[in-house]
Amino acid sequence: MPTMNAKYISIFVTTDCDLGCSYCYAQQGRDDNVIDVEFAKVAIDDFFSKYPHRGIRFQGGGEPTLRLNAMRDILDYSRNKWGEVNVELQTHGAFDKETLKWIKDNVNIVWVSHDGLPDVQNIHRPDMQGGKTNLIVESNIKRLIESGITVGIRCCITTLNVDRQVEIVDYLSSLGVKTIYGDNIFSTDANEYMNHLYSVPSWQDYTEGFIKAKKRAKKIGVFYGSWLTVNFHSETTHNCSSCIPYPRLTTDGYVSSCDVTSLGKDGPDIFIYGKWNSNTKQINYNKKQSVILNSRSLENLDRCKHCSIGPYCAGSCAGKVYLKTGSLFTMDHETCKATKKLAHYLPLGMGKEEHEIEHP
Ligand code: SF4
Ligand code: SF4
Repeated sequence: MPTMNAKYISIFVTTDCDLGCSYCYAQQGRDDNVIDVEFAKVAIDDFFSKYPHRGIRFQGGGEPTLRLNAMRDILDYSRNKWGEVNVELQTHGAFDKETLKWIKDNVNIVWVSHDGLPDVQNIHRPDMQGGKTNLIVESNIKRLIESGITVGIRCCITTLNVDRQVEIVDYLSSLGVKTIYGDNIFSTDANEYMNHLYSVPSWQDYTEGFIKAKKRAKKIGVFYGSWLTVNFHSETTHNCSSCIPYPRLTTDGYVSSCDVTSLGKDGPDIFIYGKWNSNTKQINYNKKQSVILNSRSLENLDRCKHCSIGPYCAGSCAGKVYLKTGSLFTMDHETCKATKKLAHYLPLGMGKEEHEIEHP
């Protein structure tokens, strides 16, 4: 999930996936839809015409590398028309050699989902038959790093690994990883049955484990971050790019501003501000909705505007706050307490730490 400085258009490439992660928020929408490449081309032209950024991020819903042809077509078009583009990919990391080669040739930053320790990875993120995935994912992480690609790890924190965050930093560091985001999972209607082996950790356990891991990471030259700390390095008016809004294209033809709305038909609708028209080959943008999204700024958040760390949080993640409270213009109490606790221990406004890349 990006901060406001993440300057790219995002594309939910497909709803298809070949892993069976039990906490996956997209699991109820799982099928084999693929992004309409014509839609993506028009949206890229719109975005690149409006902003100077030349960045494309491929992500889930499902697993983008299952549809290399769609990504290939989109990048060929973008590079021919707009020149060099910075490419970011979010992947489960369980791909074959051909895919590995394509990534090496085409992608600048790869975010691999790995839950920090082999035993946890294999419980959280098995394949469809329940088989282990740690070996192939860890092998691909090492191959990517060896080839000079910037690799960050997205690590989901549950009750299984919440007390093992120091161990996670050490283990991933031993694979050559320099950037890790350890994010506590939260329950939604889509994933709340999860797995009997684990559940959502308390914010107290999460922040305690995070602070210890942060210290360890600093000591060994690794960046360890959280979705709660993404704005700690400098002041902001908006929590993330969803409230600019920047586009995320869904496989069912909508322009969403937030990762939590990866399918227009499933919503939440509040983050939808455009719709592809395949007859006219145009995107109809909803300007009124863009204005509403953009107005989620610190000055319009009554519960946050006088907060002492307000400029380093700006109301926290709009998507999660909306899912938990049903409103964009409020805050979630537990998230707020966790953010304040981390802000008490971590320096604010100190500039970026070495190795940091923006939260995916
Ligand atoms: S508001 Fe949406 S896009 Fe932004 S950090 Fe939250 S989930 Fe991610
Ligand atoms: S820490 Fe809490 S009150 Fe302060 S800006 Fe964040 S959500 Fe709002």
